[in-house]
Amino acid sequence: MIKIGILDLQGDVSEHLEITEKTLKQKNVESQVLRVKTVSDVSKCDGIIISGGESTVISKLMEKTGIKRAIIDKKIPVMGTCAGMVLLATKTDYEQPLLGLIDMKVKRNGFGRQRASFEEEIEIFGSEYKGIFIRAPYVSEVGDNVEILAKRDDKIVAVAQGHNVATAFHPELTDDKRIHEYFIKEVLKCVE
Ligand code: GLN
Repeated sequence: MIKIGILDLQGDVSEHLEITEKTLKQKNVESQVLRVKTVSDVSKCDGIIISGGESTVISKLMEKTGIKRAIIDKKIPVMGTCAGMVLLATKTDYEQPLLGLIDMKVKRNGFGRQRASFEEEIEIFGSEYKGIFIRAPYVSEVGDNVEILAKRDDKIVAVAQGHNVATAFHPELTDDKRIHEYFIKEVLKCVE
């Protein structure tokens, strides 16, 4: 039995809940998906997903509730999408509390105003993938142990380090479950 938590402080939480449940069902994994609002919820999880939203708001709430410390201390796999990617970084171009779980520098709203939101085919895991970018960040620097999973032009938009994964785009807004499958595999590796 694995338990995946979706951080529920702000952002598009329900979409992640839905696709995570569908992915787990399809893979026939005995599991539970729960909303994470407190430190006690974190203690029940084998992995946590941080959705898109407003990273400054989520980071302040994570700090205030003690969830930030609890996630760092628990050392479970974490996936972050869009605002979640920002929160996983060690550095951003903006002063805000971060989890620092992936050795990378992230540029918030990196695609500028005009292209603030767009959909584009990118390549990930060797095939095409519809990337949905909404005021998305990109990764401007990575440490040696970070694996680059996808780029859009010259900009890094998906990375992994250890059991953690981050995407600048929104996998929860597509029917393509590959990113969630990847994360669930990482969680399973840690509970086996
Ligand atoms: N630009 C937002 C931030 O930095 C992220 C946008 C999103 O999650 N769709 O928090």
